Amino acid sequence: MNIYYSHETLLSELTELAKKHPEIKMTTVGHSVMGKPLPALKIGEGNVKLLYVGTHHGLESITSALLMKFLSELCGHFKSRNMIYGIDPRYIYETRCIYMIPMLNPDGVELGRQANANGVDLNHNYDAGFEEYKKIEKELGITGPAPTRYSGEAPESEPETQAICAFIRALAPFKYMFTFHTQGEEIYSGYNGYEPKNSIRVAKALARYSGYIHTQPEEAASYGGLKDWYVKEFDLPAYTIECGKGENPLPISELSGIYIGLRKMLFHSLIL
Ligand SMILES: [Zn+2]
Repeated sequence: MNIYYSHETLLSELTELAKKHPEIKMTTVGHSVMGKPLPALKIGEGNVKLLYVGTHHGLESITSALLMKFLSELCGHFKSRNMIYGIDPRYIYETRCIYMIPMLNPDGVELGRQANANGVDLNHNYDAGFEEYKKIEKELGITGPAPTRYSGEAPESEPETQAICAFIRALAPFKYMFTFHTQGEEIYSGYNGYEPKNSIRVAKALARYSGYIHTQPEEAASYGGLKDWYVKEFDLPAYTIECGKGENPLPISELSGIYIGLRKMLFHSLIL
């Protein structure tokens, strides 16, 4: 039995959930190097757009499972109309438009490595400090395709990053963008020391609701990521949430504990 969360599991759970909740609108933003569809979904009828992204790194597919758990519970509340943490689900549905791309790197999941099928670390492949990161890459001894941390030949050289960037450019602005990784129980904000309006206030609220620490990543992780690009490109807040603790890949048996720890933050992220 596979103890990790696969692309097939994601697709079948999404199909099931969309059958139960026809208000979920499904689409495909593009395809991976190996031709796997990259699903995206949308729910809610409001004007305030939010974006949640999982599994940039193949060993972190527990983040896709986490987003599916959140989506499933959220849909349950839309149906039952039961309040959650004092939040009225009807208010969420009427004022928010929630987008999710639960698994950006299905090939990495299948191949059991952080990078995509071309050996590119997708979360270093965005156009934000790409040249600066190339210097760090050299210092790390990375000169070409690798299981992790190789940024690729050029920003957005990969079909997965091309797909998500096109999607974001077409639909922006998102009030907030949240991208989920493992591990460390930390929250990163801003880009290269710059924080857009409201960025710190919301980061502190996310930290308070989750018990995670709001901090900055180590230098090698601070360039070329989706959060960095979004902040740089749109001057709006974006966050990297480093879920759980331990060693990657975190086993799926840790999903419940991680979800319970983040549940309050996830629901509040809808109204911040
Ligand atoms: Zn990661």
